Amino acid sequence: MSVFSHSEFDGHERVVFHHDAASGLRAIIAVHSTRLGCGLGGCRMFPYAGDAEALTDVLRLSRGMSYKAALAGLPQGGGKSVILGDPRRDKTPALIRAMGRFVDSLGGAYVVAEDSGTGVADIRLMAEHTRHVGGLADAASIAAGRTGDPSPSTALGTFIGIAAAVRFALGRRDLRGLRVAIQGVGNVGYRLARHLHEAGAQLWVTDLHAPSVARAVSEFGATAVAMDAIHALEVDVFAPCALGAVLNAQSIPQIRAPVIAGAANNQLATPADGQRLLDHGLLYAPDYVINAGGIIDIHHERIGYDASAVEAHLARIGDTLTAIFERARTERQPTGVIADAMAEAIFRT
Ligand code: NAD
Repeated sequence: MSVFSHSEFDGHERVVFHHDAASGLRAIIAVHSTRLGCGLGGCRMFPYAGDAEALTDVLRLSRGMSYKAALAGLPQGGGKSVILGDPRRDKTPALIRAMGRFVDSLGGAYVVAEDSGTGVADIRLMAEHTRHVGGLADAASIAAGRTGDPSPSTALGTFIGIAAAVRFALGRRDLRGLRVAIQGVGNVGYRLARHLHEAGAQLWVTDLHAPSVARAVSEFGATAVAMDAIHALEVDVFAPCALGAVLNAQSIPQIRAPVIAGAANNQLATPADGQRLLDHGLLYAPDYVINAGGIIDIHHERIGYDASAVEAHLARIGDTLTAIFERARTERQPTGVIADAMAEAIFRT
């Protein structure tokens, strides 16, 4: 297993492996760039098939965080950590504490937050051993009713991004009557549905979890749709808010919504799918730009939460997307390619 010649290696500043014999922790922290500030990113716990798979994930995800932070206008870089293990079976307080000590050993080059397989309770436990944590509400936030869950900000940022994309592609400022298909009405998708409903949009929803669909139907008058049909509806916006790789060689020719804008991570199955979307005349809001509300929220929790400052920051997601769309149109390039170039101009110079 190589690191420097790994296909996902991109000049990462640090890739640190750690084994804690007492707790059984096996983890990797990758810091891609600290050029703009500490490398902030979630800690993913997953039953990886092996070290190589875990290394690939941490290299790829930490790099992605540099791009996301740069375009979100944050004074921070990209980092990520992975714990090898099944969160349901292998997670113990001793293991999470050992992870906190591991994070601390990097002296602030990496700041840990929650990701799949870890939650606020785990970060709180790590925080007993390191102050380099994000995604925790401070005492003032808790008193104000916040939990540290970034989903509300992710949903609001996505709503703002959808409005910007609709304005650009369809010339519409008023969202009343806008037809939106939402794939996944979980933490983010449900809150996004509420924003859209309040703005007068008409909704179609699907989810693996039937009660989530029923809730959106009863609260927002949404129409329930089969899981394999949601992407092909004749609507104005397709909003993926569930899983990755939904934009692929099979699905793209079936998409009839002119705008694709949702919160899910890694929506493109391959980089070639960005070009495919362009060829089909579909406007794609790059996922890591439109779903940056969560990382923006975490940043504001760290510097002292001011709700109006957070709202102003989230509003910039719309401006950034509009700048990406305009440049993509002028240069006839996929929006994801333009977003990457704009991010690199910020964090590599
Ligand atoms: P979640 O688990 O709360 O919601 C996802 C929903 O999708 C669930 O209700 C699940 O049942 C449903 N789902 C899973 N597979 C599906 C399928 N094949 N078809 C339809 N529905 C399906 O997660 P979330 O926090 O709402 O995150 C949603 C997406 O947004 C994820 O891709 C996540 O990585 C991304 N994201 C979330 C945040 C955040 O702040 N929570 C921030 C950035 C990005």
